[in-house]
Formats: sequence, structure tokens, C-alpha cells
Amino acid sequence: MLNLSVLLESTARTLPDRAALVCGGETTTYAELDASSGKVAQAMRERGVRRGDRVALICPNLPAFPVIYFGLLKAGAVVVPLNPLLKQRELSFIFGDCGAVAVFAWEGNDQLPVLENARAAAAEVDSVRRVLGIGELDELLAPYSGEAETEQTGAEDTAVIIYTSGTTGLPKGAALTHVSLLLNARTKEQLVPKADHDVVLVALPLYHVFGQTSVMNGNIYGGGTLVLLPRFDPDTALDLLLEHRVSLFSGVPSMFQAFLQVDPEGTRLREAGKTLRVVTSGGAPLPVPLFERFAELSGVEVRQGYGLSETSPTVTFSPWDEPIRPASVGKPVWGVDIEIFDRNDKPLPAGSVGEIVIRGHCVMQGYFNRPEATAEAIRDGWFHTGDLGRFDEDGYLYVVDRVKDLILRGGYNVYPAEVEQVLLAHPSVAFCAVVGEPHERLGQEVVAYVVPRTGHEIDPAGLAAWARERLAEYKYPRRIEVRDALPMTATGKILKRSLG
Ligand code: ATP
Repeated sequence: MLNLSVLLESTARTLPDRAALVCGGETTTYAELDASSGKVAQAMRERGVRRGDRVALICPNLPAFPVIYFGLLKAGAVVVPLNPLLKQRELSFIFGDCGAVAVFAWEGNDQLPVLENARAAAAEVDSVRRVLGIGELDELLAPYSGEAETEQTGAEDTAVIIYTSGTTGLPKGAALTHVSLLLNARTKEQLVPKADHDVVLVALPLYHVFGQTSVMNGNIYGGGTLVLLPRFDPDTALDLLLEHRVSLFSGVPSMFQAFLQVDPEGTRLREAGKTLRVVTSGGAPLPVPLFERFAELSGVEVRQGYGLSETSPTVTFSPWDEPIRPASVGKPVWGVDIEIFDRNDKPLPAGSVGEIVIRGHCVMQGYFNRPEATAEAIRDGWFHTGDLGRFDEDGYLYVVDRVKDLILRGGYNVYPAEVEQVLLAHPSVAFCAVVGEPHERLGQEVVAYVVPRTGHEIDPAGLAAWARERLAEYKYPRRIEVRDALPMTATGKILKRSLG
């Protein structure tokens, strides 16, 4: 028997008066968070939600997110956290796909009528019996005591379904168990030295696995204070780092790049660096030039982790007691096996590039209700990531690129991430994305989309020449387009398929 909500319950017992959440001047203690989530469990049970029922939660980083998340877990329900940016059509697809029985939705605003979209989507799906607005939460919880009996779920029961953000196609729900998520929340204690009291800036969205598991659950387990940032913007994030003397920060690479854009001299970053003890990047490749610039300005070296929604998520991290290798995502974490396979699913030796495959407690049960997609992804117990990588002789993993992003130019493999590293090392480039575009003779041509750094201009021919000096003839981008911004997912990953 195991319920992931034990994370919160145990900290609420040992540190009841510690601030668990800080958001816009409002503080919630661990005892309050625990009690409110207990009320959610009671309210849900009374409304007929039973063990194993799926309940969607559409909410930005607000205190209501953890309150409802842990409340649903306590009731034994399966949480389906969703991005508030999803439109009605996308929501009804997911509600139907997971057979949601209820939906909790943030009201949103004029531009983003989240609750309205959720209601309209729910009306199209038979399974959804009720849609609750987060603004009504206080009213909903008022009649309850909070002393709910936590459902004795099985360790291998599904706790959360994470829908992949769809950077590569239709969303699929990765079903993650109580035990997988619990073990992942506890990886931090094996990876970084313990501190008495960490203050954590939660800038990554909580509906995404990285923010939810590594940041929220990991730090609730550790008794940290979570400073919630409802919507990432680099200026506010920097101010919060200073105001709350934040000690832990996790972000995706575009967030670090955005810090450098708004603080090019590093005035605030240097100050923030005095209290930051661990800074982590994951979710997308961290270019070495970005690692270097950030370290130079803040005095802090970013540690990389690698993971996927399907692996609950963290599977590697840069070892604490060894010098950081900036190009590597580190070594496998406790209890996780990683291999590099060739096209016939045979293991490759160190140094060879192949598909990264993962085995262990972290791997999802499967894609919810998609036996075929599951059988394709998990073969002989190994989850196939769709990422290309290699190990070095010392056991460090390097993520080379996604299999799907690989460019095949005239018979040669071009890894976009390698070309991006070179472009980002140019002093005028803030963001870039390299993609393959159809070419009559070569099959694909290498094309780069670039965004200039604040106060800089980019001359495409000059930048192409810079890349040509540093890359083999078949790799440098033949066409470079300058843009004001690049399309990003809500998590801050560049959405390559909508370029062009
Ligand atoms: P999709 O929806 O298409 O599955 P996604 O980006 O939404 O894509 P996630 O589970 O959010 O899927 O992210 C996992 C992917 O992020 C990995 O497969 C890998 O490509 C990338 N990734 C994660 N961490 C790193 C890292 N440290 N370095 C390079 N890439 C990373």
C-alpha cells in the first residue's frame, strides 16, 4: 500500500508551521496545505469520486494546484494535470481519452477563458460529470474538516497521467504510479547535500512532469518553501530570486537564456548567485555557451538532469562530487538502468551514438488506453526514448538529439543540437533552432532560425560564415532566418515543427 500524498503528510507532521507555499504575498503552511487537501478529498468523495477515477486539473502555479493535487491523491483519484493554454478541442480530446469524471479548472481571464473552455469541452464528453472552478474552492471546502482518511492505494496503482506536450504529435497520456513518482521525488536527497531549509522558486509549470515531480514533490518531501510563479517572465523571476533569497532553482534552457537577455550585465544574477546553492536545467539540451555565460555572471554552475514524462521524469543528474561536465546530462540516478541501443535493439559500447533506452522503477506503466503505442515504446522491459545519445568511458551520458529532429543531408547525419551550440556561441545570438527542410537533391537542407541578443543585430551571411569555420562543410546552415522570437511550448521548449 502506498499513496504519493505521504510526501505531504509526513512533512506536515514534522514541520507543520513551516511555510510550504508563498504566492503573491500569501503564505500557506504545511499544516494548512495538508488540511486543505484533506478537505478536497472529502469534497470529492462526497461527489462520488472513487479510487482510480481520473480528474483533470487545469491550473497555473497557484496554491490551489498542490491543494487539489494532493487532495485528489488522498481520495485515491488519478490526477490528470493539464496546461491552461489548451483549447476546447484539445481539452475534449484529453477528457475523452482518459475518461475524466471531473475537472477542476482555473477561471483564466478574457484572453484565456480557461474555465469556459473546460466547461465547453466537458459538455462534449459523456464521462465528465462535473466541472469545478478554482475560484469556488473556498466555498467548496468550507463544510469539511480536512481530516480525511487517505485512500490505501496500491504502490503500483496509477497516481498521475501526464499528457506529453505534443511537440512530436497527438498527446498520449503517460500513466505514472505512486511508487515511481515517490522514488523520483526522493532522488534529490541522493543527488544534492541536505540543507536545513531550502527556498525554491517554482517557475516551471506544475502541470508538467519536471516542475511537478522534481520541483514540487521533491521539495515538499524535503520540507522546502515553494515560491510559486504563476507565469514565467524573467524579470519577475529574478526579482523573486532576490526577494526570497532562493536557494534552489530549476529551469529549462530558454529560461536561463531569458535571464541573460534581461540582465545582460548580470547585476541581479550576481546577487541571486550568492544564495543559490543548486541550479538545475532539464527538458531540452543546455548549450555549453549558455552554461558558461550563466556561470560567469551568476557564479553558479548549472547542473543538468535528463528525463521524460514517461520516466517520472529524472533518469540522470550531474554527480555532486565530481566536476561538472557541461555537455553531459550526468550519470544514471539510483535504480535506473540506461543503455544505448542500435537499430536492432542491441547494446552499443561507450562512445557510439544510438537510441537512449531506460529500464527501472521510473518507467511508466504505459500510455493510458494505448496498448499499441505502449508496446512500441516499451520493448523487453526497455523504454525507448526517441532520443539519441552516447556514454563516455566514465559513464557520463550525452544527449545528442531527438531521433525525429535528426537531419539527413545528402547521406550525412546532422545533429541540430550540435549546430545550435555553435550558433549560440556567437555573441549576437540569443535563441536559435536548427531544422531540416525538404531539399530536392539532398533530401534535407540545414536551416537555422535565430533571435538576436538584446542590443545586437545579426547578419545572416556573417553568421553562416562563423558556423562554416567551426563545422564540417555538410553541417553548417545554408539558410539563416532572423526572427524576433521563436515559437515555444508553455514549458519553454522551442516548437520546431511549427518553424518554416
Ligand atoms: P513530446 O510531447 O513530443 O513527447 P515533450 O518535449 O513534450 O515531447 P517531455 O517528456 O516533456 O516531452 O520531454 C522529454 C524530452 O525532453 C526528452 O525526450 C528529450 O528530448 C528532452 N530532454 C529532457 N532533458 C534533456 C536534457 N537535459 N538535454 C537534452 N534533452 C533533454
